[in-house]
Amino acid sequence: MTTDKTARLKEIRDEIINLKESPLYEYRTKNKYCPVIGEGNHFAKIMFIGEAPGQKEAESGRPFCGAAGKILDDLIESIGLKRGDVYITNVVKDRPPNNRDPNPIEIALYSPFLERQIEIIKPEVIATLGRFSTKFILEKFEMPEKDQSITILHGKALDVIATYGPIKIVPLYHPAVVLYNSSSRKVLEEDFEVVKKMI
Ligand code: URA
Repeated sequence: MTTDKTARLKEIRDEIINLKESPLYEYRTKNKYCPVIGEGNHFAKIMFIGEAPGQKEAESGRPFCGAAGKILDDLIESIGLKRGDVYITNVVKDRPPNNRDPNPIEIALYSPFLERQIEIIKPEVIATLGRFSTKFILEKFEMPEKDQSITILHGKALDVIATYGPIKIVPLYHPAVVLYNSSSRKVLEEDFEVVKKMI
């Protein structure tokens, strides 16, 4: 059965597919990449928000399906959940060339889609992965912590009031940090325990 949520998420997908005004549109089409809208349970209690798709994600259209995604899957399983229980998306829905950081114009262009996804899925917990999504979400909710670094904020559960009720925001390190610094896996595992306690 197609739910209203599914229909509204499809609208978002269609708009992003046709987002010709995006500075990343030409790079996507030239390389036969896909936009990466997001995937998972439309009734998820937890939404994970990353930065932007990498190459594997742009080739498949699926968020976090490369090396960082494997780490994210392990972390999700470490708290007794499956990938299909949660919803996973990014702030920017197209791959920036050579995995460069998304720029403010791209964040401003794509973030309204993320805001609509939040309104549709209505997660009780938003877990931000890395500094870009953390900054965007803390600014969106006008949090006093918005200028603090992820090294201070990671693993803290912050209370905010969304349009649909009170929710928690849990900033997390981006799972890709484990690829460069294996000791950060332990920190991420501990921080995921904080997410687990919220649900
Ligand atoms: N990194 C991200 O931030 N998002 C993805 O989807 C993959 C890697």
